[in-house]
Amino acid sequence: MTSGTDTTTFTGTAVVAGTAYAPVVWVRPRPELPGSARTVAEDERDAEFERFVTAADTVADRLTARSAEASGPAAEVLQATAGMVRDRGWRKAVRKNVRGGADAEYSVVQATSKFINMFTAAGGLMAERTTDLKDIRDRVIAELRGEEEPGLPSIDGEAILFADDLSPADTAALDIDHYKGLVTELGGPTSHTAIIARQLNLPCIVAAGREISEITAGTRVMVEGSQGVVYVEPDEEDARRQVRESQERAVKIAEWRGPAQTSDGHRVQLLANVQDSNAARLASETQAEGIGLYRTEMSFLSATEEPSVDDQAALYKKVFDAFPHSKVVVRTLDAGSDKPIAFANMDEEENPALGVRGLRIARQNQSLLTRQLDAIAKAAEGRGEDAPTWVMAPMVATAREAEWFSTLCRERGLTPGAMIEVPAAALMADKIMPHLDFVSVGTNDLTQYTMAADRLSSQLAYLTDPWQPAVLRLIQHTCSVGRDTNTAVGVCGEAAADPLLACVLTGLGVNSLSAASTAIAAVGTRLSESTFKQCQEAAEAALDAVGAVVARESVRKMLVGE
Ligand code: PEP
Ligand code: MG
Repeated sequence: MTSGTDTTTFTGTAVVAGTAYAPVVWVRPRPELPGSARTVAEDERDAEFERFVTAADTVADRLTARSAEASGPAAEVLQATAGMVRDRGWRKAVRKNVRGGADAEYSVVQATSKFINMFTAAGGLMAERTTDLKDIRDRVIAELRGEEEPGLPSIDGEAILFADDLSPADTAALDIDHYKGLVTELGGPTSHTAIIARQLNLPCIVAAGREISEITAGTRVMVEGSQGVVYVEPDEEDARRQVRESQERAVKIAEWRGPAQTSDGHRVQLLANVQDSNAARLASETQAEGIGLYRTEMSFLSATEEPSVDDQAALYKKVFDAFPHSKVVVRTLDAGSDKPIAFANMDEEENPALGVRGLRIARQNQSLLTRQLDAIAKAAEGRGEDAPTWVMAPMVATAREAEWFSTLCRERGLTPGAMIEVPAAALMADKIMPHLDFVSVGTNDLTQYTMAADRLSSQLAYLTDPWQPAVLRLIQHTCSVGRDTNTAVGVCGEAAADPLLACVLTGLGVNSLSAASTAIAAVGTRLSESTFKQCQEAAEAALDAVGAVVARESVRKMLVGE
């Protein structure tokens, strides 16, 4: 928290740009959980379980009905949450507790704890899903007690929603006619809440910290989503002006048409990050010039067995078909760490982010990689010269790894590249690049490993900020080797989705930027407003800054002039 002469501000992690000004509404509190069981007589236990089933069905039906009114990821999240309430394993666990004599409320708490422990132990993305588990537990308990459903209150006017950690189902159900912004104490920029806020284009800040609980309901705040700042009781006239300007900007962004270039014609390819054919189809409806990162592992998170080469090829082809005349960059399985995959990650590891993940898995299991490359080559058959298929390996750290991967790709007629997301790979770029046709900087992991800060930690969000000059210096070095060796350098981490940072990356010499397709127009618009020289000057200022906050501020002043 910062207190200036007139306005108190709170800073969190910026997720969705845009400015909103309205009174605060807090999500309805979660029900108090029973600390012990009420004993249910043996002949009443069947009826007690039925009481649970009725409550759970009501909650599930309500979520399904909301899902029918939503679309895209929001509909999917609501449907998935409804599915969790109907989950047979969870209901069975509740029944076991009720049969043992506990009341329905307490049985729900016990059964859910069991699953929360399992998910937490699995770590990574599974651990993030514990928010959904707590959410369904609380909804069902409120229903059992006849209390109001926890979560979003319905309101008449406009409001900024504040929450400790909003459940994905609540985010998905947000009515944007009334809710103009979203601020959470916890959460990370890659959580489902953040993803849906992006889809809704709702100014959003996460990981704003415990201190925001001081801001009471009804307080007027301004949310500045691009910088991640909440202004408490700002000057009303000034706040309204900023909201107006942000809306005008949104109109300009909606009108932007590619291909992307600076105002003096320096071209930068803008590509989309996708994880499946649905995302690829949505990306093809934007100004994206192709796919810059296809995260193949995302299709296999719940697969227990490796799909056959033919099945994989069919899956990949569906993604490629969304861009029949454009470049597609496929990343081979980035299994491990926060994305464990049953058929790829065999051993428990003490420290999975530094463990056998990404390309490292293939050292022990090369055929897993070669089968995937065969499937990619098969899916790419028949694509024309205007639709090149590039393949890159995640987590490359040495020139030997790059050489080995490159050989396997070239044997199959595929164009090889590597992610630069381990600091060693950036530092050794001169030895790595001669083996490859391109590299793509993964700023999410490059920042995590450079700053030694877990990318999922909300407490360390100030370190896992791609504006960190240490990260930018590694990218600068990568670009300079790219120029010397005539190797294309792209960026595909979240940094590419930040319009000002995109200008800095362009100034550093990056040839392509790949981001969530919803971010592309804002990036393209910002690029079109600066000359290449201005981008280079902005890059110099960011490299020379003492830290991430100063880097961002200096560049904002240089390119936006505020
Ligand atoms: C990255 O690390 O920046 C990246 C693009 O890959 P992922 O986020 O999937 O690890
Ligand atoms: Mg990565």
